[in-house]
Amino acid sequence: MTQFKHALVTGGGTGIGQAIAGSLAAAGLEVTICGRNIEPLEKVAAGNPRIHAMTADVTDEASVEALYESAQAARGNFDVVIANAGIALSAPVGKTSLDMWSQTLAVNLTGAFLSVRPAMDTMKTAGGGRIVFIASIAGLKGAPYISAYAASKHGVVGLMRSMAAELAQTPITVNAVCPGYVETPMLERTVANIVGKTGRDEQAARDAIARGNPQGRIIEPQEVADAVMWLCSEGARSVTGQTIAITGGEM
Ligand code: NDP
Repeated sequence: MTQFKHALVTGGGTGIGQAIAGSLAAAGLEVTICGRNIEPLEKVAAGNPRIHAMTADVTDEASVEALYESAQAARGNFDVVIANAGIALSAPVGKTSLDMWSQTLAVNLTGAFLSVRPAMDTMKTAGGGRIVFIASIAGLKGAPYISAYAASKHGVVGLMRSMAAELAQTPITVNAVCPGYVETPMLERTVANIVGKTGRDEQAARDAIARGNPQGRIIEPQEVADAVMWLCSEGARSVTGQTIAITGGEM
């Protein structure tokens, strides 16, 4: 990890992004985290002098460009970008409104594209970098009630593969991690949604989610962060264009 100096983690104020930011900072990088709400970002940054909080909306091109300009002026160009920000809205396809569809695609797919695009030229001239997308097992297979989410995450995997092919002759690697259910605020909202729709109690909803993982458990954010750290390591320099499923065996 020592060759890299400054990482961007979108959605780094909570959940998986927070775990990734903590791991990158522990490895000695300066880490800029962003999201729309400043409070969670400032809370994470307050606990770690290497982590720097900035608001940005990944769906807004000007907002992402302003983030790059100000963070890079302060701490140097990003040589690691983790496109993690995401939302999960759930509905049967026939009840998926155009607004739900558009919001999901805007954050998860267009937001991922906008988050990594400004790093291309500087990473090439700096002699290398790492791009990691936090996709999902829903980027590799379909499932009921998540058509927009699955479409957005399949799109992220396509973006990642295309970028990896385009950048293969540069020292920039581009990969995606594809987790199953992870214990984060997003999962808490999913549990609340199941409770609201089925009348089950919270534990029963959590048990049902855990049973979807062949290991029968909900994954910890740090497990995803550990995979990201490996992808950012020198040892993973030949690994590009790949998806790593962190799912307890779900395929
Ligand atoms: P969280 O809800 O905790 O994190 C999502 C983060 O994204 C929040 O910090 C949120 O901050 C940020 N975000 C959302 N919209 C935007 C936006 N428009 N611009 C900037 N930031 C935004 O959930 P997770 O940690 O679980 O999710 C992280 C990633 O992992 C997502 O891409 C998700 O799809 C993926 N994932 C999660 C799984 C799970 O089971 N938890 C499983 C598989 C994949 P704010 O609201 O302040 O903007």
